[in-house]
Amino acid sequence: MAAENITPLMRQYQTLKRQHPQALLLFRLGDFYELFYEDAIVAARILQITLTSRSRESGQPVPMCGVPHHSAENYIARLLRAGHKVAICEQMEDAAKLKGRKLVRREVVRVITPGTATDLALLEPKENNFLAAVAWDSSVPAAGLAFVDISTGEFRATEWSGADARAKLEDELLLLRPREVLMPRPESLFTEALPLDLGASGGVETRLDDWVFREDHAERLLTTHFGVVTLEGFGLTGHRLAVSAAGAILHYLQDTSVKGGGGLEHLDRLAFYDQPDALVLDSVSVRNLELVTPAAGDDKGPTLLSCLDDTCTPLGARLLRSWILRPSVDAEEIEARLAAVAELKSQTVAREEIRHDLTGVLDLERLNSRITLGVVMPRELVALRHSLGRIPVLRGFLAASRAARLAALHAQLDELADVRERIAAAIADDPPAVKAFGPSETGVIRAGYNADLDDLRALGSKGRQTIAAMEDRERKRSGIASLKIRYNQVFGYYIEVSKANLHLVPADFERKQTLVNAERFTMPELKEYERRVLDADERILEIERRLFSELRQWISTQAGRLRQTAAALAQLDVLATFAHLAAARNYVRPELVAEDDGGRAELVLAGARHPVIERLLEQRGERFVPNDLYLDGGAHLVLLITGPNMGGKSTYLRQAALLVLMAQMGSFVPAQQARLPIVDRIFTRIGASDNLARGRSTFLVEMSEVAAILNLATPHSLVLLDEVGRGTATFDGLSIAWAVVEHIHAETRCRTLFATHYHELTELGGLLSGVQNVHVSVKEAGGNIVFLRRVEPGCADRSYGIEVARLAGLPRRVIERAREILARHEQKEHKLSAELSPGADPGAGENGASPRSAPAAQQPLFTPIDREVLEALRDADLDQLRPIDALNLLARLKDQVS
Ligand code: ADP
Ligand code: MG
Repeated sequence: MAAENITPLMRQYQTLKRQHPQALLLFRLGDFYELFYEDAIVAARILQITLTSRSRESGQPVPMCGVPHHSAENYIARLLRAGHKVAICEQMEDAAKLKGRKLVRREVVRVITPGTATDLALLEPKENNFLAAVAWDSSVPAAGLAFVDISTGEFRATEWSGADARAKLEDELLLLRPREVLMPRPESLFTEALPLDLGASGGVETRLDDWVFREDHAERLLTTHFGVVTLEGFGLTGHRLAVSAAGAILHYLQDTSVKGGGGLEHLDRLAFYDQPDALVLDSVSVRNLELVTPAAGDDKGPTLLSCLDDTCTPLGARLLRSWILRPSVDAEEIEARLAAVAELKSQTVAREEIRHDLTGVLDLERLNSRITLGVVMPRELVALRHSLGRIPVLRGFLAASRAARLAALHAQLDELADVRERIAAAIADDPPAVKAFGPSETGVIRAGYNADLDDLRALGSKGRQTIAAMEDRERKRSGIASLKIRYNQVFGYYIEVSKANLHLVPADFERKQTLVNAERFTMPELKEYERRVLDADERILEIERRLFSELRQWISTQAGRLRQTAAALAQLDVLATFAHLAAARNYVRPELVAEDDGGRAELVLAGARHPVIERLLEQRGERFVPNDLYLDGGAHLVLLITGPNMGGKSTYLRQAALLVLMAQMGSFVPAQQARLPIVDRIFTRIGASDNLARGRSTFLVEMSEVAAILNLATPHSLVLLDEVGRGTATFDGLSIAWAVVEHIHAETRCRTLFATHYHELTELGGLLSGVQNVHVSVKEAGGNIVFLRRVEPGCADRSYGIEVARLAGLPRRVIERAREILARHEQKEHKLSAELSPGADPGAGENGASPRSAPAAQQPLFTPIDREVLEALRDADLDQLRPIDALNLLARLKDQVS
């Protein structure tokens, strides 16, 4: 469209749009934000609103759609969630003051992107809102990652190198689930762009010019921002990719931050982190254990997080989430948390009071950021004041605590009385609900706070009296009884004198206007008054703005104290929640046991329950059957769990991992007793066919996941294998499973729980000294299988598939035929199996042979159960059998087995 054909309004629009080509431009027009052209088409689809067109433009009609400005937040949130950036354009002046011009001035006041949003309404209260940046160097290969939650001030960076750098980066992104990821453009010259599929982690990607990622640029930006000469203090020396990722983040934030708002002072540190300070959970395990997101296809299903999240504040909820994803491996830290939980558990009244008081504490971390970013609203400061008001009481509860961690929290909780008092003094109790100060929004500053402001306000309210008094005085002075002081829009204040009285007008009156019957005057005093009144509103606004901004700036100098207090409150919240759950659900304090290098400490769970399933069953009025677990890295290194489908195998496995994880978070655990060594990694793998719902799991995926375990697990890891080998033909799968167990037993030496439907695998229990069999028990009653859910030593006494089929009512002939086929199949495999017997057993000598291993060592891989022989024996009625028949039977049976 030719520029001369469009209206000035559209020209203004296009100028602004050109400055923000990557964002949807929300263009303020009166009470609406309008979107035009392509933006309108995109937004109408996402927001499900009507697409109209603006026909005032000559030529093509312009597609448009709009949202009311008072409910815009909700729409903006949806656009962000759909992965768009949004530029907000406001009218910068009052349309009433146009004075002949056609257009009000408009400006883009802020650009909001999914990773930089700070409005509380745009954020998930219980989740971090991470913005991440990724740097990549394929020549090593190495990957750098930095991420920030601008709404809380958390800013961290890390780096990996080696063949699995990319896999680790992807795992970390899956854990973090950043809303937005910064990367160099694909055609970069100086830096490499790593082609990453962000689909799984859910973020949107933002491509930046590659020089933004250059290390020298990054380093300069970071050192300037933090006011340091080197990045050494942050642990960043020698980590150039971490530095360049962190630099890209800072660059982007400075670029998108609110114009005229505050700075990024709350980003006052950048921490380099390394994995080893936390229990490592790869993304596959996080998914399989349903820690924070339920299994696919069940969005509302319970997770460990939902089961434990009884926190009172969003601060606590976020910390809990991060503790679940990064349990500690530091015994001292874990013990400190456990001791605090123990004390809070025993102090029922104090604990529940603390939780009650915490409930009134708002999201201090995010308020703090909004203050330093300069986008805080008056009402949020009032909320801050109320939240801070809770702290003295909370400190009071902690004052006498014995647990060191609680005493530390007591010390870290800063009452911030000065902040609270200043807010109370300056801000009205119930200020107007403004987003930003607009032309008419005053009343934020409390009366009595500022003398100028009070005078100006008094002027407004006393105005009428002042005029009446002046009128009275002038009547007396001039002797004109009909003299009036009036006001109108065009001429302002004037003194009106009728023609008849003109001769009485005093000398200091100045003529303003002549009417038919009267003259209008003014005088210095009235002029002065007029100026003060007309300016008063604007000046009130100006002063309120200034006072508010001064207060905001002063509070932002206290950001460090606020942040520390917020962190202490978050921790208090989580610890009190753990104590609350422990009391309400009968969880016990786990005992941490010291471990040697070989990982041979005992791991004992007695009467353990699956925290999530226990809750589910309770809701249905059922009871969870507690079970025991014993592993020791020696004779009980690998546990093979057999039993029928639905018997409880998978539950038993996951329960072990969840309890270990909870203990290392510092929580009590659902068991009667728990003695646990500190685990460095948890791996969970599920056989492919159990996993079909996810659609992407093929046998190849299953195997590459298993490969990762064999390569990465250490003697201090806990490995759960659930029906691994299932994704391929039976004998294939069995052979792989067999070899995996052998390898774990001989090389990896990680404590392993292996649930399997390969009944044959249980033979390993007799062959390898560190392998034990357990099974989930069932009993048959009244033609039905009853699941007892008890885990008992030994293997299931037979394969249950055909039994279950029989109980399900499959015709007798089908059952018999199935047995026949099975028997033959097993005989065939038997021949193969002879060649597969395992070789020397490394564990046997040093640990002392387990009681079962020696005599069983020569057993073949598959024991053919000759069902026909067994059935014939079972069917033989000895009471009725004549000796000659008995001999015949014996001969026939011998025939069959030889
Ligand atoms: P498997 O893996 O052997 O097929 P699952 O572990 O999936 O069996 O368990 C099937 C169902 O049995 C679970 O969904 C749960 O409802 C129930 N269940 C499992 N273990 C127990 C238990 N210890 N007590 C009560 N119910 C249990
Ligand atoms: Mg299962």
